[in-house]
Amino acid sequence: MAKVLDSKIPAGPVPEKWKEYKAHQRLVNPKNKLKLDVIVVGTGLAGASAAASLGEMGFNVINLCIQDSPRRAHSIAAQGGINAAKCYQNDGDSIYRLFYDTVKGGDYRAREANVYRLAEVSNNIIDQCVAQGVPFAREYGGMLANRSFGGAQVSRTFYAKGQTGQQLLLGAYSSLSCQVNAGKVKLYTRYEMEDVVIVDGHARGIIAKNLTTGKLERFSANAVVIATGGYGNTYFLSTNAMGCNCTAAVQCYRKGAYFANPSYVQIHPTCIPVHGDKQSKLTLMSESLRNDGRIWVPKNIEDAKKLQKGEINPWDIAEENRDYYLERRYPAFGNLVPRDVASRAAKERCDKGFGVNNTGLAVYLDFSESINRLGIDVIMQRYGNLFEMYEEITDVFPGEFAKEINGVKYYKPMMIFPAVHYTMGGIWVDYELQTTIPGLFAIGECNFSDHGANRLGASALMQGLADGYFVLPYTIQNYLADQSLWAKVGTDRPEFDEAEKAVNAEIDRLMNIKGKRSVDSIHKELGHIMWEYVGMGRTAEGLKTGLKKMHELEKEFDTNLFVPGTKEGLNVELDKAIHLRDFFTMGQLVAFDALSRNESCGGHFREEYQTEEGEAKRDDENYFYVGCWEYKGKGNEPELVKEPLEYEAIKVQTRNYKN
Ligand SMILES: Cc1cc2nc3c(=O)[nH]c(=O)nc-3n(C[C@H](O)[C@H](O)[C@H](O)COP(=O)(O)OP(=O)(O)OC[C@H]3O[C@@H](n4cnc5c(N)ncnc54)[C@H](O)[C@@H]3O)c2cc1C
Repeated sequence: MAKVLDSKIPAGPVPEKWKEYKAHQRLVNPKNKLKLDVIVVGTGLAGASAAASLGEMGFNVINLCIQDSPRRAHSIAAQGGINAAKCYQNDGDSIYRLFYDTVKGGDYRAREANVYRLAEVSNNIIDQCVAQGVPFAREYGGMLANRSFGGAQVSRTFYAKGQTGQQLLLGAYSSLSCQVNAGKVKLYTRYEMEDVVIVDGHARGIIAKNLTTGKLERFSANAVVIATGGYGNTYFLSTNAMGCNCTAAVQCYRKGAYFANPSYVQIHPTCIPVHGDKQSKLTLMSESLRNDGRIWVPKNIEDAKKLQKGEINPWDIAEENRDYYLERRYPAFGNLVPRDVASRAAKERCDKGFGVNNTGLAVYLDFSESINRLGIDVIMQRYGNLFEMYEEITDVFPGEFAKEINGVKYYKPMMIFPAVHYTMGGIWVDYELQTTIPGLFAIGECNFSDHGANRLGASALMQGLADGYFVLPYTIQNYLADQSLWAKVGTDRPEFDEAEKAVNAEIDRLMNIKGKRSVDSIHKELGHIMWEYVGMGRTAEGLKTGLKKMHELEKEFDTNLFVPGTKEGLNVELDKAIHLRDFFTMGQLVAFDALSRNESCGGHFREEYQTEEGEAKRDDENYFYVGCWEYKGKGNEPELVKEPLEYEAIKVQTRNYKN
């Protein structure tokens, strides 16, 4: 019999579902809250906001992160902003419009009810953060300022220069610190979750490695929440922080949590191009730059060739010889089309030979028009830190005057190219953000919930904080309401012994391979396979080749890995080896999912399925579902379980950003 996933979505029209849910949900009796412990793994925006909120509500929270401070979570890197449907610009925005844009941006592969709820709570997030003192940019008159992000024709993105993630995280961190001070949250920094412990079918604790001493420690609780971020680093080169990993999520998957839509990987169009084979990190240039920057390549292939050889400069090319290809192809949205569309359009131009840089793998992001219109001071106020970051890395200052042609002043442009950035796929969760393992919840980037096949810019922070501040703290109570009747399990139970033993055995296995290859050298090779065969353009044949190559490389990892040092004490190489083991599982999962989905949608582009104009061609008749994968053991193919999608408020149609 086919497995059925219960997404626990209340009946009724979309706008009413959340109210209906709240009206009938069970809340934990305040006296019982004091007896209930919750483990929150992760202190990014999702984890920190959830831990702070749960602590404030009275639960006892154990909160862990791998960094030496919660403030160093990857969320700190977020640059451009956070969406909300406040309609401060009086430009016709509304909760429905944010909901609609998000579902459309996700190429109609998101769960409708979840997205509506997200849009509904978006405004509360801004109020919450302002109350915490987050210094959002403001207009001269004092109102919060907004800018636009891709896939929207309104201005709904709230921002703090190019450091929005940092400021939001400081806000969440201050709330978290308050709860630490109040004794409601116990914070464990430099701890990594290695396994989830299941007792009688419920998540009852975790095994974590103290990264400083190397010792394994046991934590038990009434529920476990993972908020451990995405799996973009499977590709080795990505815009993610170096520490981002998918170990906790993959271990939950191995223990029975379904993994949903792994093939939906976001390739961001505006990153600094790869400059050599010694690089281990790529840098994002925020999407906000597309508010004022125009993307172009030369119109004539001869000019492109000369640029590639370094014989001419971009500012030698006059206006009429520039191809602002996004404005040409998508007049309604122009440079602000969603990321998947912009990335594919850049690839198309580069594949046809019009790319720039010595590799031919770059396009220009040019601010000449906006500097001429607004002046460099205004542009610096908006994007100063991003211009400086670009200069630090490339030695080119994008606002520097270069040349005047026919009375038009040209400034040095940025060079950009698409790079892996975000993962829409993640641990499957129901409407309550609970995974297929009772008592195990997943929030933020590590779940799959809201973005469908493509996330719109400034929506990850919105989702992470919605989950952490406004959704999980309520929905988890529906589960915990029962748990107050159960005694908390002790960490001396055999399930904890067994889990710790298994983690230890894995660590010993990795330490004892004693081969010749470093973790990074193998990870880099995995990244090449992922980019080449499971990257921006996928084919059935390429995916099969990619899977075969991953298999072979995994064997190399299992037999020829070298981890220096010992397992006692700090051993960063060992930690990286554990992460790489899980990137292998993840990479194969991405490929399996991509192979099973014979259509193109959002970030998943199968070259066999495209329109004549090169746009993604969906197949709603056969693939209108969430693809969930059940682990079947190392080396075995996972099993696909489908959650059919049901839309009642939005008409499913072909995405159109042209008019
Ligand atoms: C360069 C860049 C810019 C971005 N800009 C924006 C933007 O402007 N707007 C927007 O909406 N989104 C943006 N994003 C996306 C957004 O930043 C992320 O999706 C979001 O911050 C993820 O938050 P999170 O809390 O889910 O996970 P993270 O911030 O990744 O936090 C994960 C947490 O889990 C912990 N952790 C991980 N594994 C373990 C483990 N095994 N054991 C214990 N702890 C663990 C880590 O220590 C960390 O605390 C950007 C992303 C990048 C890379």
